Amino acid sequence: MKIRTRFAPSPTGFMHVGNLRTALYEYLTAKHEDGTFVLRIEDTDQERYVEGATDVIYNTLKTAGLTHDEGPDIGGDFGPYVQSERLNMYKPYAEQLVKECKAYYCFCTKERLDELRASAKEGEVIGYDRHCRCLPQSEIDEKLAAGIPYVIRQMAPLEGESTYHDCVYGDITIKNEELDDQVLIKADGFPTYNFANVIDDHTMGITHVVRGSEYLSSTPKYNALYDAFGWEIPTYIHLPLIMGKSVDENGETVVSKLSKRHGSTGFFDLVNEGYLPEAIMNYIALLGWSPAGEFENREIFKMEELIKAFDINGISKSPSVFDYDKLEWVNAEYIKAMSSEEFLAHAKPYYDDIGVDAGCYELLEEILKPRITRFTQITEKLEFLKELEDYDIALFEHKKSKSTLETSKDALEAAIPLLAECDWTREAITEVLTGLAAAKEVKNALIMWPVRIAAAGVAVTPGGCAEVLILLGKDEAIRRLNIGLEKITKG
Ligand code: GLU
Repeated sequence: MKIRTRFAPSPTGFMHVGNLRTALYEYLTAKHEDGTFVLRIEDTDQERYVEGATDVIYNTLKTAGLTHDEGPDIGGDFGPYVQSERLNMYKPYAEQLVKECKAYYCFCTKERLDELRASAKEGEVIGYDRHCRCLPQSEIDEKLAAGIPYVIRQMAPLEGESTYHDCVYGDITIKNEELDDQVLIKADGFPTYNFANVIDDHTMGITHVVRGSEYLSSTPKYNALYDAFGWEIPTYIHLPLIMGKSVDENGETVVSKLSKRHGSTGFFDLVNEGYLPEAIMNYIALLGWSPAGEFENREIFKMEELIKAFDINGISKSPSVFDYDKLEWVNAEYIKAMSSEEFLAHAKPYYDDIGVDAGCYELLEEILKPRITRFTQITEKLEFLKELEDYDIALFEHKKSKSTLETSKDALEAAIPLLAECDWTREAITEVLTGLAAAKEVKNALIMWPVRIAAAGVAVTPGGCAEVLILLGKDEAIRRLNIGLEKITKG
């Protein structure tokens, strides 16, 4: 049997990393077995409709590298793949259950149901009292003929127990008396969310249902429907929540469901912060799944490797905590592993923004690759190239290199004419500056420190003195060194 999984997001306009992990595990479950990954848009709840929300879903899957085999945009043999385009398909299934005495018409008014609910004691949840479950056929016919509005409810089993197996949580048993006579078709003729979900999964041939653990408790209701129809229940893989860590006002660490207060939780928010889609997917693959066998303890996985390594048995039921530092580390690993072409493609927009000369690309790659964990950091790291900010001459004083205003003045006075004559290569610049230190019989740092400060105007730069000079270009570097000397002279 070929595995068929589906990602069934509701179009809310936002893709939480938890939903994306569900999509990823669905994709991997299917692809590991050469199966089919289906995209279905669950938009039965039209009140929650958000403009452009389906595009967010398409863009997310595309950017994340989760290519679906069937879906609203590409079609397939089991369409339509948007619930609102399937609305007429559901009622006949409910009618079939009515005919087989597994469902019934319920004519109870909203007022009656409200009263019923209001009669509940505090803390008590009252389900439907099954008032219409046993109406005489003649009464039903009369009401239908009179056009009285109705919903269709399932006749849930009243006794016994139901057990189902979940691949992550094991066997789950409930007493059937806990099952409500759930509404399948609403008074407007449209299906309830749960009913549509089951009909869709069955008619789309879905074999494995992967979704959040918040659906564990509704699953018996879904199974009651599969049983009523005599359909095979799919394999269930419910995923634990993703948690976030924060510190409360008493300084205690609190772990709670991952939300905005822990950091970005949306896929595109993370992408905009500079996390690479491949790194995000790699990281969230490991949020709740541990590789085993030949892949044990491995942390960096390309998508093809995930497909190979993924195994449902490696999913843990204990909730995992989203660790932004770990994501940062994974991202840095992806950057380090990039070819020069890939690195440049990602870095170029930031270079262009600063106005970096193409001749510096190679040097910059060498300097930045080991130092950045996200490409967005380039802007800040190279900010000093844009223009020389007004800086405090106290920057020239540096304890460790024993640099003072006086030594800095001497160093700059001597270095400027030498550099003005020098070939603008790293080797030549280094040779000039170390040669100067040797001639003056001082440590290299006593020359390098003031030159780098005058060139950059900031204390921290990526790369050392020679690199900073090269990046600036000769004219700009000499101009800045003269400004530095003038600043110190004026005091
Ligand atoms: N539409 C549901 C959601 O977005 C999916 C439920 C399911 O996968 O069965 O949470």
